[in-house]
Order: sequence, then structure tokens, then C-alpha cells
Amino acid sequence: MAIRNIRVYPDDVLEKPCKPVKEMTDKLRTLINDMFDTMYDADGVGLAAPQVGILKRLAIVDVTEDHSDPIVMINPEVIETSGEQRGFEGCLSVPEKAGIVTRPNYVKVRCFDSEMNEIEIEGEELLARALIHEIDHLNGHMYVEQAEDGILYDNDEVKEVMEREGLQ
Ligand SMILES: [Zn+2]
Repeated sequence: MAIRNIRVYPDDVLEKPCKPVKEMTDKLRTLINDMFDTMYDADGVGLAAPQVGILKRLAIVDVTEDHSDPIVMINPEVIETSGEQRGFEGCLSVPEKAGIVTRPNYVKVRCFDSEMNEIEIEGEELLARALIHEIDHLNGHMYVEQAEDGILYDNDEVKEVMEREGLQ
């Protein structure tokens, strides 16, 4: 296990666009493994390379509770979206906070996997939200820019606000 230091907002590195990955290297394989260790250790469902200080177009996602669906996205692009979901979103770089963000309910992503094979990934609901959130990071964007009314709630307020707003 190698846990990397997660950059916390506002940190300049989180606002910079990332450079495409040209080829898989041992260094990148180590980075990917470390990112999974770091994300699972922090109970996150996604982590982008800039969050550990690396400005490369690489992000990981796993929205399962038992860590059974690890997804690696290299040079990802959103190629299709549909529908809408409104709900709470958080980020490991914005600890203990969450905001209400409306996202597409379905997303299709084209990217390369850890073997640099081109693949397409489809996601709905939480997976769609996580895929888009991580790809935004690679473009230097954070969910806080899109949080409704610019409000970031403390984690212990979320349950109450969800009930008030009728959110799932
Ligand atoms: Zn994030």
C-alpha cells in the first residue's frame, strides 16, 4: 500500500488542465495502484491524478461498496450524455463538505484502459456522476463551481437537507 497525499481545495494544481498520457509506463502503473490505495483508504468513489498532484489525464472510479468494479480512465472524453439527476456530490479534495449538483443521469465515456486499449464506459446515476466529476478534474474544474447557490454544506447537514429537498 502506498497512500498519496490528497491535495485540498483551493490548491492551484486542482485548477490546471491535465496533459494527455502518451504511453503506459511502470511509473504510471505505480501511480494507478497508489491512487486506488488512496481512494479506498479515504472511502472515495473516484480520484483524479491532479488530486495527488500529477497533471495527467488519468482518473479512477469505483462506486461499489466492496471495491469490485475498479475503473481506470486514461485520456477520457465524454461522448454522450442524457437525462438529469439532482443530488449531493462531494470530493476528496473538499473534505467534510457536499453540495447539490445537477448532472446527466447517463454518460458514455471513451478512454483508454490501463493496458492502453481504447474502451467505452457507460454509467447511470452514481456512476455517471462519478465519471463526469473525475473528468471535470482533468480539465481543472471542481464540483464546487456548479454547487447550487454556491452552497457547500457540512456533511452532518446533508441528511436534513436531503429530506427538505426531497433528494434520494
Ligand atoms: Zn473530486
